Amino acid sequence: MEHVDVAIVGGGPAGTSAAIEAAYHGADTVVLEKGVPRADREGLGPDSTDAAGMLDYWIDIMDLDVSELPEGVVLQELDGVDFIGPATTTHMSSTGIDSSYDRFGFTFQRARMDDWLRERAEDEGAQYRVGVSVRGVDSDLDAEYRHTVHLADGEDVAARYLILSDGPQRTVTIPTLDQFLPGDRSVADVMASTKANHIAYQEHRRVPEEVFEENVLKFWWGWMPGETAYPWIFPNDGNIARIGLTMPIGMTLEDVEHPEAFRLLEPGDESLPRAGEYIRRLLEIEYGDEYDIEEDFPLVEDRGKSGGTETYPISSTRPIDSPVEAGVAVTGGAMGTTSAFHEGGYHVAARSGKLAGRLAAVDSLHRYNDVWKNIIGEELVRNLSFADIVKSYEPDDWDRTFGIANDLMADAASELIETNFSGGIGGLKLVYQYKKRKRSFMKNGYVQIREDEYTV
Ligand SMILES: Cc1cc2nc3c(=O)[nH]c(=O)nc-3n(C[C@H](O)[C@H](O)[C@H](O)COP(=O)(O)OP(=O)(O)OC[C@H]3O[C@@H](n4cnc5c(N)ncnc54)[C@H](O)[C@@H]3O)c2cc1C
Repeated sequence: MEHVDVAIVGGGPAGTSAAIEAAYHGADTVVLEKGVPRADREGLGPDSTDAAGMLDYWIDIMDLDVSELPEGVVLQELDGVDFIGPATTTHMSSTGIDSSYDRFGFTFQRARMDDWLRERAEDEGAQYRVGVSVRGVDSDLDAEYRHTVHLADGEDVAARYLILSDGPQRTVTIPTLDQFLPGDRSVADVMASTKANHIAYQEHRRVPEEVFEENVLKFWWGWMPGETAYPWIFPNDGNIARIGLTMPIGMTLEDVEHPEAFRLLEPGDESLPRAGEYIRRLLEIEYGDEYDIEEDFPLVEDRGKSGGTETYPISSTRPIDSPVEAGVAVTGGAMGTTSAFHEGGYHVAARSGKLAGRLAAVDSLHRYNDVWKNIIGEELVRNLSFADIVKSYEPDDWDRTFGIANDLMADAASELIETNFSGGIGGLKLVYQYKKRKRSFMKNGYVQIREDEYTV
């Protein structure tokens, strides 16, 4: 059996970032990645499904030096975002948060970004084993190598420290952590894939030159039913865009109180449309007057997972602490850091991985829960607060909010929520709600499983 200092399950941004740091700090490190075939990568690699947008301040949270990125990773530099309600649209040209990057953000080629992180991990001396599925982990806290990682091919790897970076499906994270929870409690009570995730679907489509906006992200809020359900367009290279949506898992038409209020539902619908049908309807409404959607917005079949489309769960829950005294850290999507509210997760996945990798390598993993809260806690609370406020929004609420945002921006250039500017009663109410939510999360805690709930 192979023995290592640090075994990492999953080789996405969280896992590879953990590996870079662990290996850099001298730990004997292995990443175990099951491997996913994609049309846009030769050979197997991590899953890499992503709309792949990065906002200016996320770059600092990720601790990324953009100048180090190889050519072809950044696809478009961005100058703003359009939020499109059923009747009212607002445009933001600043996130309102200080950052070292001077544009609004960028879109990137996710598979290339992942592969670059993988190369960096290998350059530091980590092993990245792809095509290796982890079946489970048995932990014996009295042993020197406390964690035995069982691979699908029958091999075992023994590790002093274990970093779980298996993304939002958490097939390894849940049973591994359950070893450290009392009685019948399970991480699945709060983090089961169907409960704690949304489904995300996207298509890579070529967009006619004259309507392709290469420097703007677009989100349509209040167009389809469901909490945190929205389509988007992210511009990529060569007039190609990732056009996708996020929606709750398992929702039915019967769950929708006012189906007539949603522009992407039609009177004849007997069930909620499938993801691809939602996209077709959106494109039809926005561009169908002038274009034949199938002909003029063709699928780009050599991108994505297969045939120009891809589906993957996206974590849409609150984070959990790790059982650090057992030498285990959970990171990224597995830990619940991603925000389906705005698709953001690459930055916090990479940063949480980085922290876990370094702390494991220097025998200080017991500090992980405190350290991640210090470094990425504010970002997580910001996103949780937004998601909480808009949870029960109906289409009208989105229009009202975007109207308020327009008034606010007329007063105060750009910053939407973080500042104290006056924007009439509506604006003050929004700012007040946001601050109240944030304070409540800070005071009452926002993790779903605390460190002291583990029996270690
Ligand atoms: C459609 C979509 C759009 C998104 N858009 C954005 C965006 O614009 N900006 C942004 O910042 N974030 C975005 N996200 C979120 C972002 O992709 C995630 O937050 C990020 O990928 C989480 O990284 P991770 O390393 O934790 O997990 P993942 O990237 O999910 O990686 C987990 C890895 O573990 C592997 N694995 C799983 N189980 C096993 C096993 N048993 N054995 C071995 N390996 C295993 C998987 O194959 C996978 O490669 C988007 C997500 C989706 C789905």
